Amino acid sequence: MSVRVRFAPSPTGHIHVGNVRTALFNYLFARSEGGRFILRIEDTDLERSTLESENLIYEDLKWLGLDYDEGPKMGGDYGPYRQTERFGIYRKCAEELMEKGYAYKCFCTKEELDAEREKAQAEGRPPLYSGKCSRMTKEEADRREAAGEKPSIRFRAFKPNVLVKDMIHGEINFPTNSFGDFIIIRPDGTPIYNYVVVVDDAMMKITHVIRGDDHLPNTPKQVLIYEALGYEAPTFAHIPMILGPDHAKLSKRHGNTSVEQFRSSGYLPEAMINYMALLSWSSDDEKELFSKEELISKFSLSRVSKSAAVFDFDKLDWMNGYYIRRKTADELYGLCLPFLLDSGMADGGFLEKEKERVKAMLLSVRDNFVKLSDAPAFMEVYFKRAAEITPEAGEVLALETSAPVLEAFLDKIKNYEYLSPEDYKGIMKEIQKETGAKGKALYMAVRAGVTRSTKGPEMDSVATLLPVKELSGRVEETLSMIRRG
Ligand code: GLU
Repeated sequence: MSVRVRFAPSPTGHIHVGNVRTALFNYLFARSEGGRFILRIEDTDLERSTLESENLIYEDLKWLGLDYDEGPKMGGDYGPYRQTERFGIYRKCAEELMEKGYAYKCFCTKEELDAEREKAQAEGRPPLYSGKCSRMTKEEADRREAAGEKPSIRFRAFKPNVLVKDMIHGEINFPTNSFGDFIIIRPDGTPIYNYVVVVDDAMMKITHVIRGDDHLPNTPKQVLIYEALGYEAPTFAHIPMILGPDHAKLSKRHGNTSVEQFRSSGYLPEAMINYMALLSWSSDDEKELFSKEELISKFSLSRVSKSAAVFDFDKLDWMNGYYIRRKTADELYGLCLPFLLDSGMADGGFLEKEKERVKAMLLSVRDNFVKLSDAPAFMEVYFKRAAEITPEAGEVLALETSAPVLEAFLDKIKNYEYLSPEDYKGIMKEIQKETGAKGKALYMAVRAGVTRSTKGPEMDSVATLLPVKELSGRVEETLSMIRRG
């Protein structure tokens, strides 16, 4: 039997990293087993599901490169893949369950059920359904329905215990009196998650259900439904939750949590994939940096741990920097362009016309990036004149030799449009000879003259990537700033 797994998000907002890690594990498992990876949109919650969120799911998966083999837009042999298009199927299966006695119509009103629940709670019993409608004859149910009452459909917890077998958690026995008979279709006709998920997984021939272990308590109900429908249950693998650095469930207050936020703050998909793969999974060789292809060849569910993973933002940052440093100049340019444009520091026409120089500028500063969104701040040295001289640069500029060095620099560059690396080297040698300044007194003086700082990218890059007009403009301005004191 070939492996078929699915990612089944509910389109009710941005996708949280926890969900995407679930998608990733399904993807890696499918690809490593030569199986199929299916996307199913679980939009039965009509009030909370939006098309906008559904589109975000497609976008996020595409950005991450988690391509699927069957899904809502592309179709497949087991569609439709959007639950709202499957309501007829759910209804039909529910009729079947009722015929076989596994389900029944329940006419209890919300008020009655609330009262029952409160009573149970007051008496310290679990809030189970009393089973009041479970013995109703078909005739009576039909009569009440014909008279206008709208029943829900309730599934009968038809045996005392359910054994859930899970690849990660082992075998867990759930007594069914912890949940009792449960609703599978509401009075308004909308079906409930625990029910539709089984109908779909069974009909879509899903072999392995890999999902967050917050769904473990739902699993016994689902196993009962499989049995009632006459299907064998799939293999379950419930993967642990993701916690924030303080060991509370990862949430907004810890920082970025949605894929969209990570993307727009300048994380690379390869860093996200690599980092998320290590959340509760590890390789047998203790390596940590993996391409998607390597992950596919290494991944196995048997190496997924039972304990929750702690999301380490610093480690993700480190990995992101690593992947940024592996980009070619062309790729880096394309990736940073939106951030440079957004910052307003340079316009699109300029960035296009000066593409080659901008690429070289980016290469000169990229080792400092944690995220692509760091580009504008580090590129400032090329696009903006600093309004102030830093105290360290002030010290360098106060040296006796600094003003003569800068005067000589101005004089020697004046006939160029741009300096080549050789020009710059030659000029610096000449200045050294003429002024006697060397080392820090020479190079830092020029750096401080041009950038008003003692830090930044290699001076060779700054001196050769800025037009000479800009270099002299800056140096003249710096000289007058120090003369003014
Ligand atoms: N729509 C459910 C969720 O997003 C799917 C759970 C499952 O994989 O069964 O939590």
